[in-house]
Amino acid sequence: MDSKYDVVIIGAGPGGLVAASELAGKGVGVVVFERGEEIGPKVCGGALPLQISEFDIPADITDREFSSITVHTAGRSYQLSLPAPFLYTADRGRFGQYLFQRATANGAEVHTESRISEITPNYVVVNGRKVGYRYLVGADGSHSVTRKYLGLPVRKLGSTLQYVVPREHGSFELFFDARKFGSGIAWIVPHNGRTIIGLGGDLREARGKSLREICRRWCRQQGIDLTGAREESWPINYDYRGWHFGNVFLVGDAGGFASGLTGEGIYAAMVSGREAARRIIDPAHDSVDINRVLRKKRSHERLVSIMQANLPTLGIYYRILLHLTRYDWLTKKYVDYFF
Ligand SMILES: Cc1cc2nc3c(=O)[nH]c(=O)nc-3n(C[C@H](O)[C@H](O)[C@H](O)COP(=O)(O)OP(=O)(O)OC[C@H]3O[C@@H](n4cnc5c(N)ncnc54)[C@H](O)[C@@H]3O)c2cc1C
Repeated sequence: MDSKYDVVIIGAGPGGLVAASELAGKGVGVVVFERGEEIGPKVCGGALPLQISEFDIPADITDREFSSITVHTAGRSYQLSLPAPFLYTADRGRFGQYLFQRATANGAEVHTESRISEITPNYVVVNGRKVGYRYLVGADGSHSVTRKYLGLPVRKLGSTLQYVVPREHGSFELFFDARKFGSGIAWIVPHNGRTIIGLGGDLREARGKSLREICRRWCRQQGIDLTGAREESWPINYDYRGWHFGNVFLVGDAGGFASGLTGEGIYAAMVSGREAARRIIDPAHDSVDINRVLRKKRSHERLVSIMQANLPTLGIYYRILLHLTRYDWLTKKYVDYFF
């Protein structure tokens, strides 16, 4: 063995960095191995729900805040507005750098350009070196090597395609349109000086059309100018099959914690990372927060199943549901349900 740590974390995304911060803050010897050269950048819309505030993210790390968003369905538009902001956007690069600094300030070791190529019951192989562990945290995203090591399949994988447009759009917009996107959704997510425009979901209903075809045609119909835009794509694993397996934990997208409805997974990654750390520190720790995240995820996925079973009449359901947003109390419920 070349070295040994109490905890080895694979992946320096939000899940891995929050786990590292929490562990190092309690004096646990922890190392994070990240295969990328840089910490932070990731194919992502960068939308953050209000609950993210429980992680004390400083306001200057976020790009914009929204107390109102526009939801479109089959030619109609509805405004979801609340008195206070309920959605934020952040640049994943800056957001990741902030979490990285917080983890290292607490005493975590974080190494970039360090790909884990093999996992055994008591050590991992990173760049040809054997590094021992007492606990292993797989925070290595949708193509997790930790998950493969545990022998867990991935059967629910959302497809996405998005464009980073170098111009700022005024409003945060979501599009539900069964004829175009099946049970998937499209988004316009404004940041500082740029906008992320894309679509995703379990697009089995796309009837053979490529995501690029669907997305480009939809952008043309919306009058969205893609000149100078960067195209990106990455899958989202939302196939949750457990998070705690003896001395191995799966957090964030590796564990399938993202929502199968909205594709949001940053907050769930941070909560699961924190809870894995707390369970390592105190094996009796009761992870009620994991259950809270899973409850919301399951209710999202129940809705996706209903949507998939009712595609021909989905437009009517969307309209009825959104028509009710004229009642403020229901708008609050919708916002709590979706974000
Ligand atoms: C197009 C798109 C849009 C999205 N939009 C949103 C959004 O608006 N809001 C939201 O909340 N979520 C969104 N998500 C989901 C969100 O990006 C993820 O849920 C979130 O990043 C999960 O965090 P994580 O820490 O689990 O994994 P990741 O952020 O994926 O981090 C995993 C890390 O592990 C590293 N890694 C992988 N394998 C290895 C290895 N073998 N060795 C070492 N390191 C390794 C990777 O390089 C990576 O840095 C979106 C996803 C996509 C694809």
